Amino acid sequence: MSNVGYKASAEQSAPRGLLDFAVLATLNTMFSERRAIARTARAMKAQRLVAGTSGNVSARHARGLLITPTRRGYDTLRARDIALISLSGERLGRGSLEPSIEWPTHAAIYNARPDVGAIVHTHSPWATARSFNSDPLEVVTEERNYYSLDSVPVVPQQPSGSFDLARAVTSEALAADAMLLAGHGVIAFASSPVAALELCAVVEHLAQVDEILRRQPGASGGETSSSTSSSAV
Ligand SMILES: [Zn+2]
Repeated sequence: MSNVGYKASAEQSAPRGLLDFAVLATLNTMFSERRAIARTARAMKAQRLVAGTSGNVSARHARGLLITPTRRGYDTLRARDIALISLSGERLGRGSLEPSIEWPTHAAIYNARPDVGAIVHTHSPWATARSFNSDPLEVVTEERNYYSLDSVPVVPQQPSGSFDLARAVTSEALAADAMLLAGHGVIAFASSPVAALELCAVVEHLAQVDEILRRQPGASGGETSSSTSSSAV
């Protein structure tokens, strides 16, 4: 091998090495994101915020969004099961399962809210029962301060997986990070899957408190925000 040939070979390999590193870094990041979604979905089931394979979890991605697959059990859900799709629903990559049918709503939220990094949708029982009441769920407990939740709106009922549901949710999404879907469940937006799941759990708690207060004749409706603002835990 001549020196000239060696030099040319080294110059050619340097950019390729950098490219390989960038590709590996991107793949590693995407695997971490898929793993976070799978872990959050398993937690959602473990916390009994969904029954069976209902509900879904997603996270924003540079090419669209990563979302849990449809009709796939959560207990054994793995990172490689998470689907990658564009914001118009086109499946990207190989080997992924069919995305959740609720992908239109997730995509619409990512379009409307650039600050949102993840979305969780649950069918928890107290919140689902409360969703049959069209009045907003007013937050009168400590969570009002702790999660900056004044009120949880109720989105009018639309078919699951429909673009009508996506439009209805988006119309409320600029003013709320969590909402009840009439006759259906809860949807919440946050910076990460685990934070969005926490918000869904908070809404479930609020719905249960709301029902307990309704059963108490003459209940005051809980403490006011001003009286609880100094005791956040
Ligand atoms: Zn649902």
